[in-house]
Amino acid sequence: MPNVKHTNFPCDLCGADRPVEVPHSREYTGDQPIHICGQCGFVYVRSRRSAKDIAASWSDDIFGEGYTARIPAVTARLTFVAAFLDEQIGLKGKTLCDIGGGEGEFLRIAGGQPYGARTFGIEPSPANCARLQELGIEHFNGTIEDYRDRPEGQKRRFDVVTIMWTLENCQSCRAMLDAAHDVLADGGHILVATGSRLLVPFKKPLHYYLSKNPADTHCFRFSANSLRGILAVSGFAPVAINRYVDQDWLVVVARKEAKGKSIPWQGDDPKAMSDFFERWHRDTQTHFRDI
Ligand SMILES: [Zn+2]
Repeated sequence: MPNVKHTNFPCDLCGADRPVEVPHSREYTGDQPIHICGQCGFVYVRSRRSAKDIAASWSDDIFGEGYTARIPAVTARLTFVAAFLDEQIGLKGKTLCDIGGGEGEFLRIAGGQPYGARTFGIEPSPANCARLQELGIEHFNGTIEDYRDRPEGQKRRFDVVTIMWTLENCQSCRAMLDAAHDVLADGGHILVATGSRLLVPFKKPLHYYLSKNPADTHCFRFSANSLRGILAVSGFAPVAINRYVDQDWLVVVARKEAKGKSIPWQGDDPKAMSDFFERWHRDTQTHFRDI
């Protein structure tokens, strides 16, 4: 991409700058490297554009006109998340803010029966905000960082914050979690959901997982350890995780703790992560090359 500035980032989880390439990743991404941290095993894209450029790629090139998340597979996973969250912490009467509220499908579910949360969406797309308006869901048009930076009196603190299939697509997962920490009430809970893909049985061919979209539109790929880790270093103590080994999703609920409090976490073995991708590549080439 000419004339666009890229910057090399260290590992977002442990801060080390010892990247090793994900084996074969360039064969699936149009020669864009993806890295594994040589210290903690975190899988991340090292070379990234500005947050603004990445957001523009999403709104202009990837989502585009006519994109909708209102399809059965998405409704199923959002329904799962609402039920899991309710089972863990109870939603009735709680204030819940969804970061990246999208078209409001999750907010509609969480705010309806039987869950009964008091819902609010933070959503950068004006078109999606029009849809939230139609559904009668309170919302803020902008990013979580924009909302966090509003003057006191023009923002609230929430009992629950949700980030679903979104944390992996921003430029800095730490910045997003930091802002989420600020808008949560003391003792509040965060839920992060993403696909469960790493260090689990292969759930799709590798070319369905790695794409030729700009690599920095998907900067982070989480395992169970690294998702709990990134929450721990951001001031959240994990309290629940779903059965991610054979479910399609990876869902973690964590409690807000004081910023700077030391919360234990463990990474993954970088060699095991590299071997996992090597086997995934071989499996794809042997059995699913033409799918
Ligand atoms: Zn690391």
